[in-house]
Amino acid sequence: MEIQLTVFFYDTIKGGDYRSREANVHRLAEVSTNIIDQCVAQGVPFARDYGGLLDNRSFGGVLVSRTFYAKGQTGQQLLLGAYSAMNRQIGRGKIKMYNRHEMMDLVLVEGKARGIIARNLVNGKLERHSAHAVVIASGGYGNVFFLSTNAMGSNVSAAWKIHKKGAHFANPCFTQIHPTCIPVSGEHQSKLTLMSESLRNDGRIWVPKKLEDVKAIREGKLKPTAIAEEDRDYYLERRYPAFGNLVPRDVASRAAKERCDQGYGVNKTGEAVYLDFAAAIERYGKEQAHVKGLDENDAAVVKKLGQEVIRAKYGNLFQMYEKIVDQNPYETPMMIYPAVHYTMGGVWVDYNLMTTIPGCYAIGEANFSDHGANRLGASALMQGLADGYFVLPYTIGDYLAQDIRTGAIATDLPEFEKAEASVKAQLDAFVNNQGTHTVDYYHRKLGKIMWDKCGMSRNAKGLTEAIAEIKSLREDFYKNVKVPGTTSEFNPELAKAARVADFLELGELFAKDALERNESCGGHFREESQTPEGEALRDDENFTFVSAWEYKGDPSKATLHKEQLNYEEIEVKTRSYK
Ligand SMILES: Cc1cc2nc3c(=O)[nH]c(=O)nc-3n(C[C@H](O)[C@H](O)[C@H](O)COP(=O)(O)OP(=O)(O)OC[C@H]3O[C@@H](n4cnc5c(N)ncnc54)[C@H](O)[C@@H]3O)c2cc1C
Repeated sequence: MEIQLTVFFYDTIKGGDYRSREANVHRLAEVSTNIIDQCVAQGVPFARDYGGLLDNRSFGGVLVSRTFYAKGQTGQQLLLGAYSAMNRQIGRGKIKMYNRHEMMDLVLVEGKARGIIARNLVNGKLERHSAHAVVIASGGYGNVFFLSTNAMGSNVSAAWKIHKKGAHFANPCFTQIHPTCIPVSGEHQSKLTLMSESLRNDGRIWVPKKLEDVKAIREGKLKPTAIAEEDRDYYLERRYPAFGNLVPRDVASRAAKERCDQGYGVNKTGEAVYLDFAAAIERYGKEQAHVKGLDENDAAVVKKLGQEVIRAKYGNLFQMYEKIVDQNPYETPMMIYPAVHYTMGGVWVDYNLMTTIPGCYAIGEANFSDHGANRLGASALMQGLADGYFVLPYTIGDYLAQDIRTGAIATDLPEFEKAEASVKAQLDAFVNNQGTHTVDYYHRKLGKIMWDKCGMSRNAKGLTEAIAEIKSLREDFYKNVKVPGTTSEFNPELAKAARVADFLELGELFAKDALERNESCGGHFREESQTPEGEALRDDENFTFVSAWEYKGDPSKATLHKEQLNYEEIEVKTRSYK
């Protein structure tokens, strides 16, 4: 177990390209086993082996099988486990639940976080809630790109509001672009779908070697299954023989982009590569035929048995793919392309998960803590659960102990009045604006700037342009956005307008951060900083720090604080998966 934890610690620091805080990652490795026990106790149906013990499989960026899983829906099952446990506490009266409420602002009293202004999304009423401490657990901001795998409601607003009240925002440009998503199909799409990384355990990624084959495929004259083995480029296996298809997400995504940029993309938009299960179907099929005493050379038998194994492992994902793309992935390779999935950046927190505002904490994806410049697969919920179950419950008490004699905080303090008035003014301004464009019009435009200029690869020129373009888009938004309805009713357009307003500020800080970090690390690829083979080139001498931005009235005026990263237990090396 000790060895496994050391390897986990090492893989996570390396996976994050030596841009995460060493002590945090060590703590994450230490509590990781508790998390699994906790989740099992909550009833998460992790896969088990024949003997009844918990089973493991491999994930990107690691060479050992150590990921506990629940078919192709581990994340969902973990969520259900945590949610059910929370409901039990709601049932016992220990937690009061405010469904369909949105945190609109933080209230500070004498410099400490003392409550929030919330909006009831059903009737539009603003509410004041006071507390001795405030914890932000509002998730990541991948939707700044408009299209992402995140839930439609994911947003940056809570994190951004506390940033504007004094919480530093760390590494905003560290974004994870996941390699296995269903490709974008057209302009009218509002959501992207993730195909679980687990598929890379068995799927082989390739594009045709010959451009004439690519052309024929795009014209519908050639089927991928008709392309001979020697005419396929399994580019991850070729470039990274040690890790092959299981390189970390940033590496796999960039490699797909590289092939597609060279013209080898296999769908109509030229932005798709194949994820092929034919070899796995054959391998499993032969094994099963052998086990069952059937003819291993009977192709039909082998295919049927192999498909059954794949169905048992990934059936739900295959079904989802077929429903969306209308192709049967058991018979023809899936098409995939990278998409925005996770944000490693977020609210800066100290080791106790407190932000730079006393009494205001940030946990889960909303904070920046453990993943550095790239997160390894399955580590998001690991970190979120670690924060919520094994870190915050111990650290927050330290803070609350100072307030043991402070009674209930009144909500009629001037600080609450002022915060509520400013929220009301912003919402009123939206509905009274006589604009012409929808909120989505602006969000889509912002997403395009972000994807084109702050996406999988970035350069100084593009980032400088992005900063100017986002700024002018923001100005236009305030002048010309049209929000129908009123503030005192269920008004999803109004809720969205407030969120997009925050994305339009975050986007600028994101580009500013990416411009400032003139090195490539993890998911942040600066074209100016690459090896001759096109791999990310870090600049440890100048950039071994966390960028923590302080708000100064406008994203362009944000000031940079640097938290130096020191590695005592780990030797800093060039990250290689070859
Ligand atoms: C498709 C998909 C699959 C994934 N699969 C895995 C996996 O298998 N394993 C893994 O480890 N990770 C996985 N991840 C990543 C992981 O799910 C997320 O990182 C994780 O859910 C983040 O948890 P969180 O509690 O910090 O935030 P979230 O789960 O995003 O929850 C934040 C909550 O806060 C609410 N909220 C936001 N703003 C406000 C506001 N202003 N007021 C009130 N409420 C607000 C949101 O509505 C949401 O309910 C996956 C992510 C996606 C998108």
